[in-house]
Amino acid sequence: MAWVKKFKKTGGGLKKSYQPGSMVSLALTKGLLNEPGQNSCFLNSAVQVLWQLDIFRRSLRQLSGHFCLGDGCIFCALKSIFNQFQQSRERVLPSDSLRNALAETFKNEQRFQLGLMDDAAECFENILERIHLHIVSDTPTDACSSKSCITHQKFAMMLYEQFVCRCCGASSDPHPFTEFVHYVSTTALCQQVDRTLGKNERLRSDMFGELLQAANSTGDLRSCPSDCGQSIKIRRVLMNCPEIVTIGFVWDAEQSDLTDDVIRSLGPRLNLCGLFNRVTDENAKRSELHLVGMICFSSKHYSAFAYHTKSSKWMFFDDATVKEVRMSAIRPFQSFFL
Ligand SMILES: [Zn+2]
Ligand SMILES: [Zn+2]
Ligand SMILES: [Zn+2]
Repeated sequence: MAWVKKFKKTGGGLKKSYQPGSMVSLALTKGLLNEPGQNSCFLNSAVQVLWQLDIFRRSLRQLSGHFCLGDGCIFCALKSIFNQFQQSRERVLPSDSLRNALAETFKNEQRFQLGLMDDAAECFENILERIHLHIVSDTPTDACSSKSCITHQKFAMMLYEQFVCRCCGASSDPHPFTEFVHYVSTTALCQQVDRTLGKNERLRSDMFGELLQAANSTGDLRSCPSDCGQSIKIRRVLMNCPEIVTIGFVWDAEQSDLTDDVIRSLGPRLNLCGLFNRVTDENAKRSELHLVGMICFSSKHYSAFAYHTKSSKWMFFDDATVKEVRMSAIRPFQSFFL
């Protein structure tokens, strides 16, 4: 499975702090070790994207108090890697502390165990869920309103789903839920791309949200709750304004030849009004999100791209290797890595 993330860029004025030619800001990009047999690329990619995510990095830095689990504490392990990113003189750092904490925490579920490859999207999601638990251990995830919970304050999409009949107006009971990663099937996405191109419409970069929404509601047909005979589509309504939105692409086919089509559909910007059928929050209606990070999967290996705000450069992270990439080079590059 490969996935692509859409993140909101932090506010303006950031270019001022960067002096062209300066190596100071780029010194904060470091590689992460992945020794033979460790299979830590899924974790390394997730950590690199989290670290480059300004909103997340700054929020985590300000947090200190948490329910600590000692040796197996994901919160402490992540903090320690972030401190080393900041302070170490090494160009490449080990991610073992977090790898061990993850394995310890998910021992009973037999997930993220040492030496075994795992899913980067699920790793990313689980790190966020664990941060929530380390901050507000007693609040269920759908009811968290803690101001210090980065996971819910910055990443959570609070949604409800409902079937509403356009013909007779009947509706099903709304089903509220919270998600940190919005998953979309690549097969459904490519069908939407074909449909658009079939109508002789050009794929515009601002259509990405609409394409994702259409892909997410295909196949989700039900018969009208009042039995008027109509088949009706599901509606998803966003009730808050998340600062960071993460899209997870689900590669439903084992041998996928959809890579090029998926890449063609990607847009650098995302409107929440396009992504959901309705948006109730006024800020969310106006907010436009910018792509700032991606995790890609190819040949059983994960790597990541992330936007480095201070230098306005895209960086490529492949375990110990860190490279600057030109924006125009990212598209063909992706087709290689997705
Ligand atoms: Zn701790
Ligand atoms: Zn929370
Ligand atoms: Zn009806």
